Amino acid sequence: MARKTVLQLSGVERHYGQGETTLSILKGVDFELKTGEIVALVAPSGTGKSTLLHLAGLLEHPDGGEVFVDGRACNGLADGERTAIRRAEIGFVYQFHHLLPEFSAIENIMMPQLIAGLSKAEAKERAGQLLDYMRIGHRAEHRPSELSGGEQQRVAIARAVANAPRVLLADEPTGNLDPKTASYVFDALEALVRQSGLAALIATHNHDLAARMDRRVTIEGGKVVEM
Ligand code: ADP
Ligand code: MG
Repeated sequence: MARKTVLQLSGVERHYGQGETTLSILKGVDFELKTGEIVALVAPSGTGKSTLLHLAGLLEHPDGGEVFVDGRACNGLADGERTAIRRAEIGFVYQFHHLLPEFSAIENIMMPQLIAGLSKAEAKERAGQLLDYMRIGHRAEHRPSELSGGEQQRVAIARAVANAPRVLLADEPTGNLDPKTASYVFDALEALVRQSGLAALIATHNHDLAARMDRRVTIEGGKVVEM
């Protein structure tokens, strides 16, 4: 498969006002993510990993520069268009799963598909496949509170890719798990990315996991640099 750039950040800036002063977090980030690649974002707390992921995921606007998703400049688009692109092209996984507590695992994975207009039967079939793929098919009817931390994160990953996005953005997805569980969850995530031709950018503090990804980048002086 030809490697195509699916996410590009060009000269991206983010500054936060702090009373009289301005805190410059990102000062001209250039970064490209291509189909089929898994990139680790490894940087100390407070350097701007979450900020970068939120900008890349069109959850926030940059103060300068541009974010391209699948070649399309997104900054100037109307909110509705940004939301549509985010729903179709981007999957997000957080450190804490953010699953809906009153719904079962399979219902949580069906939800984004129903919002996208699929029928209940179609959504249920794909959700079931994803649960099997993540090796938690037997937990389909359980609510998040009845699942272990590793199982919750596998459901969250399945939900993030339910609409077959091009880009998976994960913000310390295994940060809350013990090393063995983290490794197991990453195995499942990696297999999913490899077989679907997704591209993934994963913020992590886990150097063992980072070592297994295709590339590692960090944030230095407000810019993204290769490690
Ligand atoms: P990381 O994910 O690498 O820990 P963040 O992107 O969460 O870093 O935050 C980077 C810096 O920006 C931190 O110093 C944080 O306090 C600051 N920051 C993040 N969000 C805001 C905000 N909404 N207002 C002011 N400062 C913020
Ligand atoms: Mg963070």
